[in-house]
Amino acid sequence: MEARDITEKLKNRSTEEIGLIEKAFRFAQEKHENEVRYSGEPYFTHPYAVAKTLAGMHLDTNTIIAGLLHDVCESASEEEKEARKKEIEKKFGKDVAFLVEGVTKLGKLRAHGEERYLENMRKMFLSIAQDVRVVLIRLADRLHNMQTLAAVPQHKQKRIADETLEIYAPLAGRLGMGKLRGELEDLAFPFSYPKEYDALIDKIKERREHKEVYLAKVKYKLGEELKKARVAVTSIDARVKHVFSLYRKLQKHNNNLDDIYDIVALRIIVKNIEDCYAVLGIVHKLWRPLPGKIKDYIALPKPNGYQSIHTTVFCVDGEITEFQIRTEKMHDEAEHGIAAHWIYTHQGKPKAGGVVSKSLKWVAQIREWQKEAEGTKEFLENLKIDVFKNRIFVFTPTGDVIDLPDGATPVDFAYLVHSEIGNHCAGAKVNNKMTSLDHPLKNGDKCEIIVQKSKKPSQSWLAFVKTNYAKSKIKAALEKK
Ligand code: MN
Repeated sequence: MEARDITEKLKNRSTEEIGLIEKAFRFAQEKHENEVRYSGEPYFTHPYAVAKTLAGMHLDTNTIIAGLLHDVCESASEEEKEARKKEIEKKFGKDVAFLVEGVTKLGKLRAHGEERYLENMRKMFLSIAQDVRVVLIRLADRLHNMQTLAAVPQHKQKRIADETLEIYAPLAGRLGMGKLRGELEDLAFPFSYPKEYDALIDKIKERREHKEVYLAKVKYKLGEELKKARVAVTSIDARVKHVFSLYRKLQKHNNNLDDIYDIVALRIIVKNIEDCYAVLGIVHKLWRPLPGKIKDYIALPKPNGYQSIHTTVFCVDGEITEFQIRTEKMHDEAEHGIAAHWIYTHQGKPKAGGVVSKSLKWVAQIREWQKEAEGTKEFLENLKIDVFKNRIFVFTPTGDVIDLPDGATPVDFAYLVHSEIGNHCAGAKVNNKMTSLDHPLKNGDKCEIIVQKSKKPSQSWLAFVKTNYAKSKIKAALEKK
């Protein structure tokens, strides 16, 4: 363990910043000197791993320092806690002290019972609204705790894994951190559902082995074609999907593995958007696409900001294979979500308050509702419905996907597409049939909104819309009138 393992992951940092990270490294190492983890390893291996994860997300220097220090106060005795807090502020400044305190306050989240759960959610969301970096440190903390879960006493393992699946992984997902979400889920899966995990691994073993060989073939052939067409590719990466996401998918498909094409996917990363479409053309020239499986999330990003082109084709030997095509920046955002936005917005300059990216509307929404209804049960219920309840995916006529809570209506859909479409929504066609505006949408529905310029939002809509976003937009429009 050396400070260099952390700092070498970072770009554009001044000597002064590097010096501060090294200082925090030594400080934390010293404070944890006599402590050990369950595994018997020195305790410092933990904050060290957390800081490395945060550095890998290219977060600002203060967040990395706070990652190193995040357990310094928590592990101190009651009398010593205050002194340590002051020491941190003196040595590393107000911003770091604020982050460390935020992480400490967030405390240990436990998924025990409904009240506890709501309380956890409240804490998490207030932290996000205050400064999202606090939650990023907590997520990096959880990742390392999951990576070392095998050493934890057995009677605690399942509870910790369940919490991860119930709270942390969905949260990472909602923050757009797809990579972290997948990692957390896959680490928790064998502890939360041991039988199901073993059965699934058994079921896909042969197929995965076969697919790996197969993908190498596809990768080679595609690489050759791209070279001929002179498209510069950053990487072609064949990957076997995350096991837990496969498990969830199988549940939806009556456990039939043959219905699922994307056990594996090929990911092609290029320099710019033009090249994305060039690659799509080459893939379709080589292999016939499956109808209805081409999704252009570049032209029409998902609500969480995700961008990529997906297509599924009859590939080598007629095997059905999914391709994902994106730029380096899109890839970074898909993997690191809000963390990537943070860095693209601030270029590493620490700024109190964290970032709320425009493409992550829901984070901004949480801030708004928090002002209106802080601490009430209604507020908590709403949060749960908007952010964590089962989601459905509804298609626009152009094939874009809108992510909605279960039971959402065409009015919710309209507002999420665009607030002007919501405000002038006169009628809806679901799967090409006229329906009422309060019709509950189902997963996979295609929804088309009929817009009339003269149409205005109605008070009656408030009785059936499911998203708080639509609710607040309708209220605002009604007030204006
Ligand atoms: Mn920790």
